[in-house]
Amino acid sequence: MLLGKYSFGIGDRFGHQGKAQLAGLIKARAAGAEITPVWNKSHREHSIIGTAPGDVRYEADAAVAACGWNGPYFVDADHIGISNVDAFVEASDFFTLDVADFIGRPAEAEAVDAFAARHELLMETLEIDGIAEPFDVQTSELRAIASKYLAAVQEAGRIYRHIADRKGAGTFVTEVSMDETDAPQTPVEMLIILAAIADEGIPAQTVAPKFSGRFNKGVDYVGSVEGFSQEFQQDLAVIAYAVEKLGLPADLKLSVHSGSDKFSIYRPIRAALRKFDAGVHLKTAGTTWLEELIGLASAGGEGLGIAQEVYATALGRMDELCGPYASVIDIDRGQLPSADEVASWDGETFASALRHDQSAASYNASLRQLLHVGYKVAAEMGPRFLDALQAYEETIAEHVTANIYERHIRPLFLGSR
Ligand SMILES: [Zn+2]
Repeated sequence: MLLGKYSFGIGDRFGHQGKAQLAGLIKARAAGAEITPVWNKSHREHSIIGTAPGDVRYEADAAVAACGWNGPYFVDADHIGISNVDAFVEASDFFTLDVADFIGRPAEAEAVDAFAARHELLMETLEIDGIAEPFDVQTSELRAIASKYLAAVQEAGRIYRHIADRKGAGTFVTEVSMDETDAPQTPVEMLIILAAIADEGIPAQTVAPKFSGRFNKGVDYVGSVEGFSQEFQQDLAVIAYAVEKLGLPADLKLSVHSGSDKFSIYRPIRAALRKFDAGVHLKTAGTTWLEELIGLASAGGEGLGIAQEVYATALGRMDELCGPYASVIDIDRGQLPSADEVASWDGETFASALRHDQSAASYNASLRQLLHVGYKVAAEMGPRFLDALQAYEETIAEHVTANIYERHIRPLFLGSR
């Protein structure tokens, strides 16, 4: 199951934009960047929208057939755990094992002892190519980190074996994710986590740490770009070391979650990937849905009416809608226009407030984040919303494709904007 050096997670809330998303990757291929599409959807999203994993498989297969895509592609059971994985087993061939909730659960003392005994080498001064200062991990530090993460990695092993028993080992891609937690993982922690993943026999092909800084949904990175750049390079160096010394799969790579729209770190990510000749998996934050809204608004008429209604309803239900995403959005309520004001906007005014163009005075990051979590409102509109997606398909598709290709693929994989 080869994921390829570069892969791109294209979540699609309503399952209508598969072809338009794939068109972005086809343009990338023509421009010289081979990128594997991965349609991802989490249990959380499925339950909010009322879809099932089989719907994502249907969308992916249909888009691939319609576009004549002959490269690999995957369907990702995103952020699953042992309690909800079963529903995904048949339709998915990529599993993101989310064990963030298990971080910090104390591991058994014998497990920590055994880990420390097995990995004495990690406690010698470690010169890792690409890291200026050698790692000097003391026994106490290694034991503390192992205590913090072993239970989480053991849980990942449990979920992995559960899936492998049902689907067969080697028939799916495995990602281990620890990004939905409060504290970022340091490169030393990453090294120890990877050692534990190797011990557990998980053939991880991607690993999603929590990086420093804020990765809010649908908006730019907030934090020190220089600090991120250093951390990202150290993580790449650690991965290369783990592949060589710990026997993890040769194509193991970093997965960046909520990676769409993090424009200010694309340049350092690209530079780091080139420096280390490394691959990456980048998951978008489900922002295709925002392109649908932009397309609807731009089309005017009933399309604009729906976009305005989604905003008005989302504004009135802000606390409920933001709840599940509280840790990954930062809305400044003072920046939100009233529903009446938005109702008076024409299509271009709505689109330019929402479109992620930070150089535009009209761009409103708070409005964008509120609408990002407002997809539940559109889901509740049912056929009215889905019919509009069809009626305005052409306009919407242009926005979806351009967003993926121009704003994401070009700066990340082609080095131009
Ligand atoms: Zn994530």
